Amino acid sequence: MAEIYDIAIIGGGPAGLTAGLYTCRARMKTILAEKMVCGGQVLITDVIENFPGFPGGIKGLELADWMLKQAERFGLEVLPAEATALVSKKNANGAFIVELSDGSKIETLSVIVSTGARWNNLGVPGEKELTGRGVSYCATCDAPLFKGKDVAVVGGGDTALEDALFLTKFANKVTIIHRRDRFRGTKILQERVFANHKIEVVFNSIVTNIKGTKKCESVEVKDVNSGITKSIKSDGVFILIGMTPNSEIFKSAVKTDDKGYILCDDDMKTSAEGIFACGDVRKKLLRQVVTAAGDGATSAFSAQHYVERLKGVEYK
Ligand code: NAP
Repeated sequence: MAEIYDIAIIGGGPAGLTAGLYTCRARMKTILAEKMVCGGQVLITDVIENFPGFPGGIKGLELADWMLKQAERFGLEVLPAEATALVSKKNANGAFIVELSDGSKIETLSVIVSTGARWNNLGVPGEKELTGRGVSYCATCDAPLFKGKDVAVVGGGDTALEDALFLTKFANKVTIIHRRDRFRGTKILQERVFANHKIEVVFNSIVTNIKGTKKCESVEVKDVNSGITKSIKSDGVFILIGMTPNSEIFKSAVKTDDKGYILCDDDMKTSAEGIFACGDVRKKLLRQVVTAAGDGATSAFSAQHYVERLKGVEYK
């Protein structure tokens, strides 16, 4: 722990990478810890159509790569490690300690949390057993495995609709199973779903069982109004029912809502002085690449001013 960073960013998705771009351009000594490859969920998004500046859309992988390169160009230091603990009680020199999975530690004057969120499970029989054998949480990753097959998609949000549409490029038939009588997802995606002859929608229904011996063969679906159960032939099931924030290690330091999303003000300040949060891990209305990037920039600016104030060099 030789040097003290001005800012440690935890998580390298669009929010964290944008935060890093801004803090480095402000000449803050910044380190970003990412447990996997930088890019977050963008990495598993085929084409992003709603990030401004790309009229024809852009591949998720490509956008993530460009975001990383742009931040590194201005001096962002990226550490391939998982943060396992945050010591929120500041030590004698006013710094936080971030403990990492490899046993090392980062000492930093401020922390930006950009750890994102992870996919939820259904929790029905067969789900765990058949994961990787038909049950998937990522259409971008696994859709090509279902060429000419019948698949089910569970969920009614943007992810479910977008991924159902993507799956039609490969699958013979895509059945969307949603627990309500209408979708939560964006209207333009709904229009495309209803217009696609390969997609069948089963509303007011929940999956109660995923069946198959060696691999997924069918899903058992119960109508929530009638209680009637039916079986739908499915070689694959894509469970796309939202996310859980990756906020576990920060919960003792900052306030969260009942789902674990970190509470921030408009400046991305959390309830703890010196800790900021941005992107999908924080409570917010809209979780998109563009809003993550916006959050990242704001959190960087706030952290920069916090550090400058600590050092007595803030430009007011
Ligand atoms: P989401 O918006 O939270 O939607 C989750 C869906 O799963 C909802 O329809 C929900 O039903 C259903 N669901 C939740 N738990 C369930 C359960 N136990 N059993 C059955 N169904 C369940 O999640 P998301 O679609 O992953 O999207 C997450 C965020 O990313 C959203 O803000 C979304 O707008 C954004 N996103 C944007 C894009 C894009 O703009 N291109 C693409 C993907 C995601 P209810 O509706 O009944 O609650």
